[in-house]
Amino acid sequence: MRLSKYFLPLIKENPSEAQIVSHRLMLRAGMIRQQAAGIYSWLPLGLRVLRNIEAIVNDELQKVGCVPVLMPTLQPTDLWKESGRYDALGKEMLRFKDRAERELLYSPTNEEMIVDIFRGYVKSYKSLPLNLYQIQWKFRDEVRPRFGVMRGREFLMKDAYSFHADVGDATREYYKMYDAYHRIFARMGLTAIAVSADSGAIGGSLSHEFQVLADTGESQIYYDAAFDDIRSGKVIMSGEEMRALYAAADEQHKPGSCPIPKERLREARGIEVGHVFYLGQKYSQAMGVTVAGPDGVNITPEMGCYGIGVSRLAGAIIEASHDDSGIIWPESVTPFDLGLINLRSGDAKCDALCESIYEKLTSYGKEVLYDDTDERAGGKFAGMDLIGLPWQIVVGPKGAEKNMVELKNRKTGQKQELSVEAVLEHLLGTCC
Ligand code: ATP
Ligand code: MG
Repeated sequence: MRLSKYFLPLIKENPSEAQIVSHRLMLRAGMIRQQAAGIYSWLPLGLRVLRNIEAIVNDELQKVGCVPVLMPTLQPTDLWKESGRYDALGKEMLRFKDRAERELLYSPTNEEMIVDIFRGYVKSYKSLPLNLYQIQWKFRDEVRPRFGVMRGREFLMKDAYSFHADVGDATREYYKMYDAYHRIFARMGLTAIAVSADSGAIGGSLSHEFQVLADTGESQIYYDAAFDDIRSGKVIMSGEEMRALYAAADEQHKPGSCPIPKERLREARGIEVGHVFYLGQKYSQAMGVTVAGPDGVNITPEMGCYGIGVSRLAGAIIEASHDDSGIIWPESVTPFDLGLINLRSGDAKCDALCESIYEKLTSYGKEVLYDDTDERAGGKFAGMDLIGLPWQIVVGPKGAEKNMVELKNRKTGQKQELSVEAVLEHLLGTCC
């Protein structure tokens, strides 16, 4: 992508409305624009990140057998009257009428609708287990939308719903999703701590929140110090081993009955990036769902539901990975693989060298953001640091004479003077 043809509206000054670093950086890097309280447009750079986060979620979920669907954002309210939740969500749920005076709502979550789909088709235990998921916009009229996409009113969520013939199978699925969540967040460079939690308005008997540590997080959590060793890479543990460690959300932590000694207990703030619930028969019973069991007797399916805050993750990743100059994207979600800075656009040598590097890297499938504008060098460096691509190639007139460029690692700040061939080899591997 050539910057001259792209849409990357960077902001130099710190936006006064942003209280936390991820919100500030997302606005300054031209990733999002607020359109109303808690409602955002995703500008091109932000959209690339959102799509990369979605791709990781899709990949890991489909690997464990989840099946993608897409439900509408609007629902008739009848389903919610059936489940008994119509009143429970109160003002958080946005309700309105269509031209025929039929009451609709903007989905805050989709348990009712997925149960409605399920009961329309599935008649036998032989079709179980079934885990359907979507990545779709939700609306919750939060009392205090804040921190940018962290607590929006409209936000993108991955929501999965599973159906099972018995408790054992639903429990197996619960922990399968639990382990998949650890893999999903790890691929984004995040260590999430799964804390046992209340089930809230969703209901059910067993639930874990996946929390990423950050001082600006809205949740208070308690956990075994061993998680700090996992986060720093000192210790590697399997999902099963991690499950055995103590970790609890604020409302679940009871100092009097905490199973680990005080010296090992850590207290911190966390950002909730995901939540898994064991629902049991709460919705299947309320909405009258049964399937034929193995012995011909009808059974009421057990259910689980599993959410991930896809748009919130964009902010959470920045909270976990930035410095004074801007964002530092992990390679897995970065909007472009690298930035190519032409220090003297219009200079024949610089232009030709940049073009050849751009062509080569692009032909090998690299996503390159090529700054071909005629802005001054300082502005180009600051802008590239701000948007945080993992690598920068800097092409200047002196180096271009000798076919030399500078390669900068955004995370370490390390710079190397290298021949063009060496840079390409570095970025593409030894194949070329
Ligand atoms: P919270 O406790 O943060 O209000 P929740 O428990 O109401 O969240 P869930 O119903 O568990 O949220 O939704 C699944 C996931 O969706 C959450 O783990 C979170 O990552 C994300 N999420 C929930 N509310 C918002 C919001 N207002 N803005 C952005 N993401 C959200
Ligand atoms: Mg939650």
